[in-house]
Amino acid sequence: MNAAELSSLLRFVASNMIASEAQLTRLDMAVGDGDHGTGMQRGFTAVDKLLAQQDPGDDIGLLLTRVGSELMSSMGGASGAIFGTLFRAGGKSLSGETVLTSALLARFLRDGLDAVCKRGGARPGDKTMVDALAAAVSVAQPLESAPLGDALNKIAEAANRGSEETRQMVAAFGRAKSLGERAIGHPDPGAVSMALILRFMAQGCQSSRVDAQAKGE
Ligand code: ADP
Ligand code: MG
Repeated sequence: MNAAELSSLLRFVASNMIASEAQLTRLDMAVGDGDHGTGMQRGFTAVDKLLAQQDPGDDIGLLLTRVGSELMSSMGGASGAIFGTLFRAGGKSLSGETVLTSALLARFLRDGLDAVCKRGGARPGDKTMVDALAAAVSVAQPLESAPLGDALNKIAEAANRGSEETRQMVAAFGRAKSLGERAIGHPDPGAVSMALILRFMAQGCQSSRVDAQAKGE
């Protein structure tokens, strides 16, 4: 997948994240302050606008880094810094690359996870987006030689399982921390967002493959 294709895939992700606003708001009303859906909506609206205006260039690392900077400056809240860090640090580690493969996706996720953990201090089990991201990283590594679409499907499923597991957890970070055991039964909104981003990437990759096949490419 080249930079132009990645840019359209990210626009597909953006429009679906914007459409997920109500679901994410509902989740953050249960364990937080209810602003996660509008934060994501604001961030991905800005990302969509950026990608619509900007030439994607050739460098997929630079493209992902720009998406991260846009999320960081537009979203606000804890998750603006966290999701911005994922895309910025993951993008930086792909700097100079021109074709997204499963191996590079695994590197993006792993280096992004490391940076998020350093920046926010959360670890797996703390009921944050790290639980979905760490689950994605653990399956991405062994899928490095799989076709990108297949790897994305499995990575998205793993992230979804990781986000479901946050239901059982007591939060160690953010506003859900003050709820203690009352947060049990509710998934972490950021973990759900992380799983959705990967699910929409998998779906978008699938449909672009179907399009290419229909055109005989
Ligand atoms: P805020 O907490 O400022 O209201 P949001 O509601 O947009 O921000 O985002 C909350 C989400 O951010 C949480 O569900 C969690 O997944 C994520 N988050 C918060 N703090 C951290 C952290 N230190 N590390 C990783 N993720 C975090
Ligand atoms: Mg919130």
